Amino acid sequence: MTIAESPVTPTAFSEPSSTPLALLLLGRGSDPESERGVDCPGELPPASDPDLVARALAAKATLGSRVFVLGHHYQRDEVIQFADVTGDSFKLAREAAARPEAEFIVFCGVHFMAESADILTSDSQTVVLPDLAAGCSMADMASDQQVREAWAALEAAGVAADTIPVTYMNSSAAIKGFTGEHGGLVCTSSNAERALRWAFEQGTKVFFLPDEHLGRNTAVRELGLTLEDCVLYNPWKPNGGLTVEQLRNAKVILWRGHCSVHGRFSPENVDDVRARIPGINVLVHPECTYEVVEKADYVGSTEYIIRMLDQAPAGSAWAIGTELNLVRRVAAAHPDKRVVFLEKTVCYCSTMNRIDLPHLVHQLEALVRGDVINQIHVDPIVAAHARTALERMLALP
Ligand code: SF4
Repeated sequence: MTIAESPVTPTAFSEPSSTPLALLLLGRGSDPESERGVDCPGELPPASDPDLVARALAAKATLGSRVFVLGHHYQRDEVIQFADVTGDSFKLAREAAARPEAEFIVFCGVHFMAESADILTSDSQTVVLPDLAAGCSMADMASDQQVREAWAALEAAGVAADTIPVTYMNSSAAIKGFTGEHGGLVCTSSNAERALRWAFEQGTKVFFLPDEHLGRNTAVRELGLTLEDCVLYNPWKPNGGLTVEQLRNAKVILWRGHCSVHGRFSPENVDDVRARIPGINVLVHPECTYEVVEKADYVGSTEYIIRMLDQAPAGSAWAIGTELNLVRRVAAAHPDKRVVFLEKTVCYCSTMNRIDLPHLVHQLEALVRGDVINQIHVDPIVAAHARTALERMLALP
C-alpha cells in the first residue's frame, strides 16, 4: 500500500469540544444502565487532590513486582502514565499471563478485558478492575441467556449442527464460554478473517457475536461474501426477527450489537473531512459501520492504526476513526504529521473513562493495605470453556 502524501502543513491536534452528556458518565457514582453498575467500596480520593500522582507512585513502589498495571489504548493519559504495559485487550491479557510473579493484575480497561486476564492468568494471580462499573456497551448487548435462546432458534431451524459460533474478544466471559462449548472460537479485530476462514472449514455457517459491523466487514470485505449472505439476528425480536428460511439460507448470522463509540462515525464524516482536507488519508477501526469502512482508505485494529501512523511519511495527513484518547496520543507522538479526529464531536469511550486517577489510587492503596477490592473472578467452568475458545484462536495459522 502506498500512503498518499498530502500538501498540508502539520498543525497541532485540536480536540473536539466535549458535551455535558459525556462528562456525566465519568468518575464517581454508578450508572444503573451499565454492565455492572456498582460503586467502589470505601472513600475515593477527590479528583482535586494535588497529591494523586505522588500517591499512585508511592503505592506502586510499595507493591513493587507484586503488582502489574495494564493500560488499554483507550485509557486516559492520567491513568496510562502508570501502566507497565499498554496495548489492546488480548495483548494485555497475554502480558498478564506472562508475569506469574505478579500477584495482583490491575486492569485499566473494561470488565470483559479483566475477565479475559483472569481466564488466562494462573490461580495464584488476582485480577482487579479499579472501577467495577467500567463495562462495555457492546459486550452488554449479548447476554448469556439471549445467546442461548438464539442458539435454540438455530436448533429449531435445523441449522445449529452446521453453525460455528465466533465471538469477538469484546464479549463477556459467558459468551466466550458458550462459544468454546459449541465448537467455536474467539477472534480479535486483527485475526477476524483467519477466524472466519477456520470456522467455515468446520461448518457451513458462522454465528458472529456480538459486533455486527466487524462480522459484516470481515465476511464481505475479506472473505468475499455478499451482504445478502449475512442476516442480522435481533435478540429483542421473536426468532431474532428472522424466518426459518432466512436462517437456513444465511452464511453468516450476525448478532445485532455494536460499539457505541465506533458506531458514531458516519459516511458523511468521511466526505466532510475529505472536503476540508484534500489528500487526507482516512483510517478507521473495523468496528465502524460497513458504509464508513467502504469509504475509508485503510481499515485495521488499534495496533494497526498505531503502526500505520509510525510508518507514515512526514507531512502526510490522517483522519482517524477510533476512540479519542488513542487518537490524541497518536497525534502527540507524530507532530510532523497532521492527525485529525474523524468525527467533529467528542467520542471517548465513557465506560473506559470511568477508570480515572482517583479510582487507580484507591485501588493501589487498598492493595497496599492488603484489602483486595474490585476483584474479577470468572466461574471455573465458564473459564474452562472460554479458555478452549481462546486456545482455538491462538492455534489459528
Ligand atoms: S470502545 Fe466500544 S467496544 Fe471498546 S470498550 Fe468502549 S464501548 Fe466497548
